[in-house]
Amino acid sequence: MRPTGKLHLGHLVGALKNWVKLQDEYDCVYCVADWHALMGEYENSQVLTQHMHDMILDWLACGIDPKRSIIFIQSQVFQHLELQMILSCITPLGWLERNPTYKEQLREIKTRDLQTYGFLGYPVLQAADILLYKAQAVPIGEDQLPHIELTREIARRFNHIFKCEVLPDCEAILTPTSRLLGIDGRKMSKSYQNTVDLSAPQEEIEKKIKNMFTDPKRIRKTDSGHPDKCNVYSYYDVFAPPMCADVRAWCTGAQKGCTECKKILAEKILEALAPIREKRKGLEKDKDIVKKIIATGKDKACAIAEKTMTDVKQVVFNHEL
Ligand code: SF4
Repeated sequence: MRPTGKLHLGHLVGALKNWVKLQDEYDCVYCVADWHALMGEYENSQVLTQHMHDMILDWLACGIDPKRSIIFIQSQVFQHLELQMILSCITPLGWLERNPTYKEQLREIKTRDLQTYGFLGYPVLQAADILLYKAQAVPIGEDQLPHIELTREIARRFNHIFKCEVLPDCEAILTPTSRLLGIDGRKMSKSYQNTVDLSAPQEEIEKKIKNMFTDPKRIRKTDSGHPDKCNVYSYYDVFAPPMCADVRAWCTGAQKGCTECKKILAEKILEALAPIREKRKGLEKDKDIVKKIIATGKDKACAIAEKTMTDVKQVVFNHEL
């Protein structure tokens, strides 16, 4: 995950809940992808350290367990760049230029200049991130599937050129796309300022929920509402599913107004987030906790990465450097 600062409801529902569960089935490696962040945020790089700190605290608060999983910072494991360099040498330019995410981001993102050498190579670094750990599987959303396919192609090309089986095929574990939209009904994104941060003060969460867009056809309290067309209802579906029948009834029957409906939703969200927010407050008291966790994570990640690079260098250079 790129460190973009404090995490929001969309991260929780779209990724973290799944990541927490995966710890029961897999040996998980969670990477704070600061090199990837730098590719897009090179003009604002000073904020990355704080963002990494905030993000790791949120991971821990949500249940990523450093005793069971490896949590590390990408730039602290130098082998990511070593493998990226080697993979860059064998990746045809055309594979990168036709990558759909690359084309889409160049088209969509106007606030930063992404016409850089580094950004074009984004998927090669991603491939290195995955292959360095010989990962069997990577949890992703559907939009990331082309990147996994590219990683597989790069690994196969490496094995073919160097006549070996050093880099394995990896699979995608598809995370269902998050149903949560931002409070204004658009895609939830920090750049739209329509997110609700997990660790935001209670008053801020209440205010943001109060300002949520609702069914545009329900103007007066006496009008019947259409829950299936209301963003607020979809939040109930995620954070308080047992209440959905009641909400549907009071909405279609015009028994409660939208203000009251949103007030109850804010309470339910705060209730659902309470254990996470409580845990984060406890973690914040230990000033060194993030430092300690990433130091251990770095050692564990480096041990795996070093082993892979020994195999890689053996087949590329025919000797260990
Ligand atoms: S009552 Fe609730 S579900 Fe119905 S339109 Fe208003 S906010 Fe949406």
